[in-house]
Amino acid sequence: MILVDGHEDLAWNMLTFQRDYSRSAVEIRQSEAGSSIWQWNGDTLLGWEEYQRGQVMLIFATLFAAPMRKKLGDWDTQCYADSRQAKKLYRAQVDAYSKLVEQNPQKFTLIQTKDDLDRLQTEWQQAKDSHLVGLLILMEGAEAIEHPREVETWWDLGVRILGPAWAGNAFCGGTNEPGRLTRLGEQLLETMASVGFALDLSHMDEPAVLQALDQYDGVVLATHANAKALLRGVESNRHLSDRIIHRLIERDGVIGVIPYNAFLKAGWREGDRREEVSLLDLVAHIDHICQLAGDSLHVGIGSDFDGGFGWQSVPVEINTIADLQQLAPLLSERGYSNQDIANIFNGNWLRCCHRFLT
Ligand SMILES: [Zn+2]
Repeated sequence: MILVDGHEDLAWNMLTFQRDYSRSAVEIRQSEAGSSIWQWNGDTLLGWEEYQRGQVMLIFATLFAAPMRKKLGDWDTQCYADSRQAKKLYRAQVDAYSKLVEQNPQKFTLIQTKDDLDRLQTEWQQAKDSHLVGLLILMEGAEAIEHPREVETWWDLGVRILGPAWAGNAFCGGTNEPGRLTRLGEQLLETMASVGFALDLSHMDEPAVLQALDQYDGVVLATHANAKALLRGVESNRHLSDRIIHRLIERDGVIGVIPYNAFLKAGWREGDRREEVSLLDLVAHIDHICQLAGDSLHVGIGSDFDGGFGWQSVPVEINTIADLQQLAPLLSERGYSNQDIANIFNGNWLRCCHRFLT
């Protein structure tokens, strides 16, 4: 089953750890043996061979850097003190994607238009040994934007999805840093809507999400977020309440669920045994959203793989991204039809893309 992955921080890994995703996850792990990378970000879950085995056709690939106050150590190079530095880092990440595609034209391609996506889908329908992996650029945290009018420059650079916040910033509250949408945040959304961006609500604080849902008339989605209702006792604004999930469903939005143990099961912490969480816990989050919607049209996968965690922190069945295919039989046992499974694996994200790509 073809998979669309709604969130991977590829450029952050490429620039922080020099991970080369044109290689296999197995090769990347070998090249990192004896280093400390696994302690900082876990063993990689991603690589081109594994994209092929996992039938990963399209990835929403991020531009991501963190504010200096969140810097985790000397190794954590993608941090900025101000928007001028953020701009520099994000531009370097755009360049990293261009370079990846230029150096590996048989492996990766950038997706910026409907035509690009149609070509990619046609390519995947042909019988071949291997297929191109599409990368659609998503800006996670809008600190690289000093003034809202600059969003157009990022559209021209290929960015199609934009999430205003990661931590809290000048636009709105973010993860663990609550706050409403500011006047500048409202202006950002206005400009984003006029240019035609999809709005990623992941990481935004709930009051800001509610304001954004009232204001934004473009496509809304949550590229990587899980259901708060299944994480009782977890004190975090990172997960989506049923209220927000309902509002996203009303807007034909899609939510990418994250197979990260700490976001699947309340009480699981980094360092705990990965055997304590299984893909059934991910099925539970998928099913929760489908039950609220009354259909299978509003959930997808947003793996967030290699985005601050790796092999050590994902459900026991997963060695690499290729193993997400094991979700299909589990969903089928849960009563999901082949059409439902196709919606969840690819159809919902593709429907979304066709609404915001031009
Ligand atoms: Zn994130």
